[in-house]
Amino acid sequence: MLQTNITLVTQKADLPGIVEDILRLQPETTNIAVVLGTSALEKFWVGECRREFQPFTNLVRFTWLNDLSSAQILKRCATLPPRSFIFHGFFIVDAEGVHYERNEVLRRLHEVANAPVFGYFANDLGLGAVGGRLFQDSELGAQGARTAIRILRGEEAGHIPVQTMEAPRPTYDWRELRRWGIDESRLPPGSVIQYRQPTLWELYRWHIVGVVLFCLLQTALIIGLVTNALARRRADQVLRESEERMSLAAKAARFGVWVWSIARNRIWGSDRWRSLFGFVPGKDVSFEEVIQRIHPDDRETVEREVRRALASRSDYEGEFRALLPDGSQRWIACRGRVSPDANGTPARMMGAAVDISEAKGAATEMQGLRLQLWHADRVAQTGAITASLAHELNQPLTGILSTAQAGLRFTARGNADCALIREMLSNIVHDTKRAAGVINGLRAMLGRKETRREPIDLAATTQEVLDLVHSELIGRQVQASQNLEPQLTVVADKGQIEQVLLNLVMNALEAMQDQPAEQRHLKLALARTETGEALFSLCDSGPGVPEGGQDKLFEAFWTTKKQGMGIGLAVSRSIIESHGGRLWFANNPDGGATFYFSLPVERGEGK
Ligand code: ADP
Repeated sequence: MLQTNITLVTQKADLPGIVEDILRLQPETTNIAVVLGTSALEKFWVGECRREFQPFTNLVRFTWLNDLSSAQILKRCATLPPRSFIFHGFFIVDAEGVHYERNEVLRRLHEVANAPVFGYFANDLGLGAVGGRLFQDSELGAQGARTAIRILRGEEAGHIPVQTMEAPRPTYDWRELRRWGIDESRLPPGSVIQYRQPTLWELYRWHIVGVVLFCLLQTALIIGLVTNALARRRADQVLRESEERMSLAAKAARFGVWVWSIARNRIWGSDRWRSLFGFVPGKDVSFEEVIQRIHPDDRETVEREVRRALASRSDYEGEFRALLPDGSQRWIACRGRVSPDANGTPARMMGAAVDISEAKGAATEMQGLRLQLWHADRVAQTGAITASLAHELNQPLTGILSTAQAGLRFTARGNADCALIREMLSNIVHDTKRAAGVINGLRAMLGRKETRREPIDLAATTQEVLDLVHSELIGRQVQASQNLEPQLTVVADKGQIEQVLLNLVMNALEAMQDQPAEQRHLKLALARTETGEALFSLCDSGPGVPEGGQDKLFEAFWTTKKQGMGIGLAVSRSIIESHGGRLWFANNPDGGATFYFSLPVERGEGK
């Protein structure tokens, strides 16, 4: 019961609420150490607590430390058993009578305690207390002061109603919750958390976002680069493998292959290709380096044609001379094809190149051989040519003679008609020109160089001629087979024997040109006869020699061809006969003709 003219400003102390809150925060708590001093006031509160905490004693063991010195209290609090909590009420005087400043013990307790400290006053927050339903002592003081002012202003204290402060909101120190691992979800509803420190995330959110983004971008970039590099390496590997395959194929096929990566301007070439241009093996070169190896006279054409192929995405094909570092020169035939990328831009050009120097030489040689053939040889003066000449000149000379005789008869009778005489004379001029033409043609044939006899291997010579006509055989779709006995040596003019062989082969090819492609067969054979001669035969699958031609075949100027001169066989026979051999032919029973010639084998070679 309050005395009269007194008012009250108060706040309800909720002591059981302290234990409830401790058990809510840490349900597994089994021990609560109560820290209070020994002053009369503290003793009062020790009593209050003991009474109020009584209902919880079957749940928790309370350790009352109020009979101890502060040092002993701190020591005990540093070594509390697990699942302990400390309740710090207030501490003014310890058991040894030592006075302490407010909160001093709490501060030291905070430093040494091995369990969380539950406070009681609002001021305890921030000094080491986890928090709780903290007594608002400052608020209470302020409200008390406001009430005192009203009294001082003359208000009757008894008229001022008792003011009970609202139950404090549970308030907690975020740092202590973290320190003791107390989850915020365990706090009583409506709890306030103070001293919340922004997390690194909250403090540096944008820095972190930036750094993470940067890292992600960098990672993406690295992954991109690595993927790209891997893809490139894979592509390079595929390219290298295909290049190796091409290289192998190239080795086998005697041609060099090359691949030009246009964007990088690097040309990879097989070893064969590099050797064609005199580049060292294993090193890529640029387009310009290749151009430098081309003969100055051919460079512009090659460059122009390559650029044209690139522009029109078409093929390049050309022949040019390569100038090698050692000063040598060779003819190269080259082909290339442009392969565009997905956008249609030329990405690569690849192709093959081959040394055609020999082929060029062979072509010239072949041309020369053909010319020789068509012009005959000095040996053609003998035999058939002489007879043919007589026959050929006989016609115009007979014509001249008979015309001249008729003219003489007309003038002797004295009735010569000028117009008639003119016509006769012009006939004579015509026939004379014809005879002169024959003689001039033969003179060209006769102006040949001396023959040179030497031992020659007939099989090898035949093979050389076959090599010469190789492309001709392919072009004319003729299947050729040969059965040539080696080491049959004859003493002969190699050039002349080649003329004979070439003439016989060309005649056979021409004879078969109207046959269906699959029926064009050429069989060459060379064998030693029983009489020790070399016997050469050439069998074709053409129509054979026609009836009327069989006797005249070897006569000069007898031909069934539009462009023919009719001297090939005549000359051939003359050549073979001048070497002591024979040349003849026979139509095959199953179609076609076979031409033969025999030659005496060199002394010592025969059986
Ligand atoms: P030409 O240049 O006119 O062919 P040749 O003396 O080489 O002169 O041949 C004379 C003729 O002999 C040919 O026009 C042709 O009618 C005939 N002849 C030559 N070889 C054969 C052959 N293998 N098959 C059929 N006829 C041939």
